[in-house]
Amino acid sequence: MSEPERFTFQAEINQLMSLIINTFYSNKEVFLRELISNASDALDKIRYQSLTDPTVLDSKKELEIRIIPNKEAKTLTLIDTGIGMTKSEMIKNLGTIARSGTKNFVEQLQSGAADISMIGQFGVGFYSAYLVANTVVVHSKSNDDEQYIWESSAGGEFTVAIDQGEQLGRGTKIVLHMKDDQLDYLDEQKIKNLVKKHSEFIQYPISLYVTKEVEKEVEEEKEKTAEDSSDAKIEEIDEEEGDKKKKVKETKSEYEILNKTKPIWTKNPSDVTKEEYTAFYKSISNDWEEPLAQKHFSVEGQLEFKAILFVPKKAPFDMFESKKKHNNIKLYVKRVFIMDNCQDLIPEYLNFVRGIVDSEDLPLNISRETLQQNKILKVIRKNLVKKCLELFNEIAENKEDYKKFYESFAKNLKLGIHEDTQNREKLADLLRYQTSKSGDELSTLKEYVARMKENQKDIYYITGESKKTVETSPFIETLKKRGLEVIYMIDPIDEYAVQQLKEYDGKKLVSITKEGLKLEETEEEKKKAEDDKKENENLCKQIKEVLGDKVEKVVLSNRIVTSPCVLVTSEFGWSSNMERIMKAQALRDNSMSTYMTSKKTLEINPDHPIIVELRKRANDKAKNFKDFVVLMFETALLSSGFALDEPNSFATRIHRMIKLGLQISDDATADDTTSTTTSDDVPPLESSNEQSQMEQVD
Ligand code: ADP
Repeated sequence: MSEPERFTFQAEINQLMSLIINTFYSNKEVFLRELISNASDALDKIRYQSLTDPTVLDSKKELEIRIIPNKEAKTLTLIDTGIGMTKSEMIKNLGTIARSGTKNFVEQLQSGAADISMIGQFGVGFYSAYLVANTVVVHSKSNDDEQYIWESSAGGEFTVAIDQGEQLGRGTKIVLHMKDDQLDYLDEQKIKNLVKKHSEFIQYPISLYVTKEVEKEVEEEKEKTAEDSSDAKIEEIDEEEGDKKKKVKETKSEYEILNKTKPIWTKNPSDVTKEEYTAFYKSISNDWEEPLAQKHFSVEGQLEFKAILFVPKKAPFDMFESKKKHNNIKLYVKRVFIMDNCQDLIPEYLNFVRGIVDSEDLPLNISRETLQQNKILKVIRKNLVKKCLELFNEIAENKEDYKKFYESFAKNLKLGIHEDTQNREKLADLLRYQTSKSGDELSTLKEYVARMKENQKDIYYITGESKKTVETSPFIETLKKRGLEVIYMIDPIDEYAVQQLKEYDGKKLVSITKEGLKLEETEEEKKKAEDDKKENENLCKQIKEVLGDKVEKVVLSNRIVTSPCVLVTSEFGWSSNMERIMKAQALRDNSMSTYMTSKKTLEINPDHPIIVELRKRANDKAKNFKDFVVLMFETALLSSGFALDEPNSFATRIHRMIKLGLQISDDATADDTTSTTTSDDVPPLESSNEQSQMEQVD
């Protein structure tokens, strides 16, 4: 026989194994669920293959899982007749290629954010075997290779060798050599309880090798033979005089099926208990918590299917991992598992919903490719979305539950608004926002509309980085003063959602940081606006001249009270917040960002003392008029939520103003306070004489 080949575990896997072995965890029992779940997956795979090629089952007909405890040998053995692994699959899957979740899980375990029972979610369930075993031996036979044997007692390495022992036909046999303090997992009752608790809804029979004592009548003469048999205990039970027969107790071993394989979704919902749904949910999801809510329904008529949908309490750790397109609905056809992760079954924004769908109409041998164009699947998808929305509305009936739901999945709803034109309105009803009037509570759009002032036509919103920035933003001043409520949209994805939403309940959603904000004006206000316009025409022109291409135009503002000016963006362009978001994304290419950034309009407040003063100076063309305009513009960039292109030159301008305020010479520098030479990095300000600047500040 050839020598076993040695391999070292990939570094992160090794780290994970050390943690599993050396950290104290009380709930070690999860190992059984994980290994059964792997076996079930392997069975699903071979069954799926057999739909198109029935001969794959020839190597082993039954699809099942067996569990064999052996107290003498201190081993627990699990056998499945699933797809098995080839030699190279064994090497990759059990040690050399880390799943994306490995590192994540290790970090979360170390920080205490994750618990060992969550192992299945991270795709590394196999290694949980080391919670209870010192040594794990895996025998596996794939249709595509010889039978191989994998073995490891951790310590950084494993071996793989050809397996000339008992042949499996097809499938995998895992032998756990139990740690001395974990031998109670060899106890029949304990295993039965665990299977009931975690694996009851596995779709394949799980049988346990049990040893029973049975009573048996034996003839006197036969007694001797029975005595010879090592597994028969003979006891004289009832020896009637003259009777040649004896009753004996004999131990008999047999397989006992532990799970009900009748699918829960085929039952009438009223016959299924909450506990059963929870157990089923845990079995399909790897989640350790119970679901937040579920919906079990059947659709009949033109097409027929049954489904159970679950909303988890928390978002999975990798929900928005862009590379990983996945969903969590399992597709069955007439009770036969077809596939996980069927992308056309549910839209991406609902990828957090877990569950199963069992169709009566789809062909059994359907492939991923043909599914895409399948009309039946499209109808199922439409129905699933409808039911999901119903389910979310049911959750919304309980405020506390909905709060949890919204914390975890608001992003998904907003993505839905962006993507799902048909259901946009219904999704909008599920949105919740803080507003200028809601305090810390969240408000629905419907509630906002109910609170709208009598003559208010539009729904006002502001987007920004945080509640703090939006509630103190200069844009909000007039609206607050007029008692108009403003919705705070502070999640980056709000920018995308609101672009698509556009209106709610027939009312336009209006950004208060963009052009197109129309506020009701009294006759008096209209008159004043006209007068102001005339009076400031020249000032606007002068400012525009100074700022040049930096702004599209300069106009009078109707939205600011205490600030001298703000910068607004065009109605259909990016807001300052969107500009910030896009810059934070990989938009490194400068040409791209200049092209995409929106044109800005400078709005000035004609009643603000600074503007009043500038108006006076606009005409006398004082040189420092320019300086003040530039500085005012740059300050407005900041207070309106934009970033400065040249923060240093802004800072230098401000420093110059501070020097003036402190009456220090403009030429004074840190290392030479008496120097009179002008440094080269003075920003492109109009060089003005010191005297007149001092006057300005004074
Ligand atoms: P996961 O099952 O979440 O993918 P595991 O660490 O539990 O992660 O298993 C790693 C891989 O090893 C599986 O994806 C599968 O390819 C393979 N594997 C594990 N157990 C079995 C089994 N009983 N039969 C066939 N393949 C298996």
